[in-house]
Amino acid sequence: MNLTLHLTENCNMDCAYCTRVKQPVRMTEDVLDAACDLAFAYGNTAGFCFFGGEPLLELPLIERAIRRSKVKSAETGKPVSYKMTTNGTLLTEEILDMIQRERIGIGLSFEGKAQDCCRRFRDGGGTFSAVSEKAKLLLKYQPDAHAMMTIAPQAVPQYAESVRYLCGLGFRRITGTIAYGKKVHWTDADLALLETQLREIAAFYEAAFLRGRPVYFSPFDAKIRDCITGYNPGERCHLGFRQMPVAPDGKIYACTQFIGDEDFCLGDVFSGLSTEKQRTLAKREAVPDTCRECALRKRCTNSCGCLNRLETGNENTVSPLQCTYEQMLIAIADETADRLFTADEEAFRKRYAPQG
Ligand code: SF4
Ligand code: SF4
Repeated sequence: MNLTLHLTENCNMDCAYCTRVKQPVRMTEDVLDAACDLAFAYGNTAGFCFFGGEPLLELPLIERAIRRSKVKSAETGKPVSYKMTTNGTLLTEEILDMIQRERIGIGLSFEGKAQDCCRRFRDGGGTFSAVSEKAKLLLKYQPDAHAMMTIAPQAVPQYAESVRYLCGLGFRRITGTIAYGKKVHWTDADLALLETQLREIAAFYEAAFLRGRPVYFSPFDAKIRDCITGYNPGERCHLGFRQMPVAPDGKIYACTQFIGDEDFCLGDVFSGLSTEKQRTLAKREAVPDTCRECALRKRCTNSCGCLNRLETGNENTVSPLQCTYEQMLIAIADETADRLFTADEEAFRKRYAPQG
């Protein structure tokens, strides 16, 4: 079973779009140990994502989870894997040594040149210089680390420049999403500029592909793959099944946005998962009514309950912002795919078509 461990609700940063309420609440050792054991009680593998707040504020908990889960892995014969999402500010060579040794896949939340638009330390200071240096260090240890961008309206003018900057640093894998939630206010002008920026990124993405040094940029890669392989329900987010968050108090929820909502609590690390509640939740998943006739419904993230909840308060209602963004993204991805296919069909098939 895959668990996202919310080791702390605290963070040393205060990003403008952050949806977390920062407070000095941490996971206890008892909760952590029980979570480690529980991950081996279901399924054939165990996966842990160290998450927060900022998980590196609780380094001893990470080390403890690794020690305990390795013992459980040896006992059960089930392989274990680790991931971490971090703002990067606390990375050191010593920590990176451990990350390399334990093969912890890192997602670095970093917006490149646009970083200081939203991602600031708690005292208001910018984080760009600090995180740039940490990013270089990270890439030295883990060249396939992901850079994770969350683009709010104020960062849009620097979106394309930031993607180029991150690739220049050495990132070959970039995930990009727009910022959602109550703290974020998109205007029509912001969305028009977003479209221009995405087209600029598409040109960069295309040039990299044609040079034989393709860049993975999640918004385009995902849409192009979906178009080629068709709808694959197995790749969709399934609330309460694929990757479940464990809150610091040990309760297990369907997804991060639902932490604290008893309706979406599936149990806790001490008493285990309620399969009955999982089944009930699975029945609630539905294609939003507004999407039933849409030709894009099988390539759209309309089924992401977490995102819908964040935007509209209901897991099955899509916001107008998300609908506009999805249409924009799919159109640009399709135009890009057409050009790549025409330019080099063989390389295109190799990159995007399903293998085997
Ligand atoms: S680094 Fe993450 S948890 Fe911390 S303030 Fe920023 S978005 Fe929130
Ligand atoms: S593009 Fe809009 S209407 Fe179409 S499936 Fe997505 S959210 Fe629904």
